[in-house]
Amino acid sequence: MEGLGFYLEPALAEPERAFLGEVRAFLAANLDPALRAAVDEERMFFGDHERSNAWFRCLQESRWHVAHWPEAYGGLGWSPLRNYLWLYEQGLRGAPLLRPFGINYVGPTIMRFGSEAQKAELLPRIIRHEEHWCQGFSEPGAGSDLANVATFAERRGDVYVVNGSKIWTTDAQYADRMFCLVRTRRERTKDALTFLLLDLRAPGVSLQPIRLLAGDHELNQVFFDNVEVLPDQILGEEGGGWQVSKFLLEIERGAFVFGGRLRRRLALLIERARDVRAPARFWDEVAQIDLDLRAYEATELRLGHLGGGTPAAANLIKIEWTEIGQRIDALGLTPGGRAGLYPRTSGTALHDERGELTLPGWLASYFNNRATTIYGGTNEIQRNLVYRSLAPHR
Ligand SMILES: Cc1cc2nc3c(=O)[nH]c(=O)nc-3n(C[C@H](O)[C@H](O)[C@H](O)COP(=O)(O)OP(=O)(O)OC[C@H]3O[C@@H](n4cnc5c(N)ncnc54)[C@H](O)[C@@H]3O)c2cc1C
Repeated sequence: MEGLGFYLEPALAEPERAFLGEVRAFLAANLDPALRAAVDEERMFFGDHERSNAWFRCLQESRWHVAHWPEAYGGLGWSPLRNYLWLYEQGLRGAPLLRPFGINYVGPTIMRFGSEAQKAELLPRIIRHEEHWCQGFSEPGAGSDLANVATFAERRGDVYVVNGSKIWTTDAQYADRMFCLVRTRRERTKDALTFLLLDLRAPGVSLQPIRLLAGDHELNQVFFDNVEVLPDQILGEEGGGWQVSKFLLEIERGAFVFGGRLRRRLALLIERARDVRAPARFWDEVAQIDLDLRAYEATELRLGHLGGGTPAAANLIKIEWTEIGQRIDALGLTPGGRAGLYPRTSGTALHDERGELTLPGWLASYFNNRATTIYGGTNEIQRNLVYRSLAPHR
């Protein structure tokens, strides 16, 4: 694993190569090997919440956790290319994935649409990790068709009163706040939707956990029963929620770098397959994934982070990383990858002490990662968007 590298490195200019050296030295000095080993065994895409927090705290002093934020808001103002290299190397070296909801999604959206008071109140709390956020878009009747949200915020005197429910809410069990899209008018028009920065500690909010396919708890259904929200918790204008959400969804799709993370996962599989007699067709598929991953890495860098992207770039990238990731997971379940079924650090029992289904290591990731082609907009929807951007007149 130590020999892993960034194959596009020779194409970088000298200052960026030097920067990459700094990033590697930083990770070697700060990334605890025990943390890294635990991340290699992780069962869910976002990984363990506590490990993510531990990494966040480790980065706080240097502010490398918000290196992409402008200096005016407490960041380091790194260029998209430097930020790409930093994110790529974190994935390649096995760092935990930082929770994106505050630093990547709502933080930059508040910078763009927030009032001065909202910026002054909320952004420092995100940087200091004092408030955790979750994302409340999907509802039982609104997923791909987001404009169909039914959660209603009704103006009553000085407050809005919110009733309804959000579903598939990642991390709601840890969150203090939820950014969410609600309806403020009954008609199905674009100006019927409003973007709220809701306080989940308010009376009337309750949660119901939802188990993932392998038994893990990452998702929730969140219920609102006459939850009072002050007008200063609206981001942008009342009725301007669609525009704010579109901005957030666009940055959401470009917020990650997956090349390094996938490259490490493939390397882990290869390492484990060496322990068993893998058939030739296992290695054929490894070689094919390796080639596709190289093409993906070049695309991710060029379209996603060098500023040359078409509007469909983020959609293409989402389709590719999720499908390559699922191929790696599936390969881990074939005879050659069977070592991956039995991680070194855990047993193979299928139920925990409460009798809940809990699958071991690689098998759990295989099941849990079926969700990658669904969340953040399903891959069918991504393909529709690519088609529309290529054939806008149809
Ligand atoms: C693990 C996980 C985490 C998630 N986390 C969050 C979160 O934190 N916050 C949040 O708000 N949401 C979250 N989601 C929800 C996710 O965004 C939705 O599941 C997704 O947008 C799809 O919506 P849906 O589930 O309602 O499916 P539907 O929209 O009902 O789609 C069902 C099927 O129909 C297909 N389909 C629908 N419309 C079309 C069309 N026009 N053309 C072709 N095919 C179509 C879809 O591709 C899909 O296969 C999460 C989901 C998962 C699985």
